[in-house]
Amino acid sequence: MFLSRFSKKDVVSLLESKGGDIINLLRDGNSQREGSNITFSKNAFIPLTEVCRNTCGYCTFRKDPQELGNNLLMFPSEVIHALKESEQYGCKEALFTFGERSDETKEIKNLLEKLGFANMSEYLYHICEETLKKTSLLPHSNPGVISRKELKMLKEVNASMGMMLENCSPRLMKTEAHKKSPGKNPWLRIQTIENAGKLKIPFTTGLLIGIGETLEERAQSLLELRRIQNKYGHIQEIIIQNFRSKPGIPMENHPEPSLLEVLKTVAVAKIIFPDVSIQVPPNLNRETTQMFLLAGADDWGGVSPLTRDYVNPEAPWPEIDELKRLTYEAGFLMKERLPVYPQYINSEFLSKQILEKIQNIDLK
Ligand code: SF4
Repeated sequence: MFLSRFSKKDVVSLLESKGGDIINLLRDGNSQREGSNITFSKNAFIPLTEVCRNTCGYCTFRKDPQELGNNLLMFPSEVIHALKESEQYGCKEALFTFGERSDETKEIKNLLEKLGFANMSEYLYHICEETLKKTSLLPHSNPGVISRKELKMLKEVNASMGMMLENCSPRLMKTEAHKKSPGKNPWLRIQTIENAGKLKIPFTTGLLIGIGETLEERAQSLLELRRIQNKYGHIQEIIIQNFRSKPGIPMENHPEPSLLEVLKTVAVAKIIFPDVSIQVPPNLNRETTQMFLLAGADDWGGVSPLTRDYVNPEAPWPEIDELKRLTYEAGFLMKERLPVYPQYINSEFLSKQILEKIQNIDLK
């Protein structure tokens, strides 16, 4: 248990490290890792819909239904076609990422009704079921804030699920980042992560760094995730994602966090979570990506040999071989993993059909 090991003051003080203390912090973060493997999952990124009830100040993914015309939703045949293609490249994970509660718009609601589904979660269940029936891939879904009942249903057809906490500060609901995003209410997100814990769903979550949060709020967010993990033990990985400014977004002129700021957060996250993988998305940090490994990051997340990363279309995933080279140069080895981490591959965390599916997967 890691219950009261760190106070908020301790965490803030680590995040404020300067000079030689930064080197010590990185060393401490790096020393928490087990072995020298940096894991990754070969995935196919499937953006089921770009419609979202939220309008986050940093988002480049979301579109209004009017902008999308006839492309509101990926249909089951399109999804299976894309997954079949990805299968040929050895992908094991079908990553379903899409706008939150898109069924709150009349356009998506009407379309789902025409297709015979009451809401997006029912549609997602169907898509995951088809994936399991028709491909060798394992679903990992990121539906955003959903109810406990919906999570329970989706557990049956998912190897793991995920949702970023982003930050636990309600103050950000009044700032450019989240003022138009009801789903970014931290209370709702914490409730969803806790419900996933109660249902024993292997879960991915994380923090978005540099969206206007204070160091205290960043520290509190890490401690909040620690509290949840102490209680339920279902968090398999924590993503430390840095805000990147992009032309045209509401936060276009907001400063990006410095490399040191992100490095320190990665090291602190690993120190607080020696039992959880720490992931930094390499596509957002092409030039600096190796540095995060030296601070304790031990997972690259999903790497796709085929589909584009639709959330950040201007930053394509580096080739897997290039990532392998960078990992090796930093003194580590890249190792493929499934969307569910080994410690959760058991009947407590996975449904029978997912467990059976995993038995037929060969990770070379
Ligand atoms: S919830 Fe996600 S998809 Fe929706 S606006 Fe925010 S960042 Fe974009």
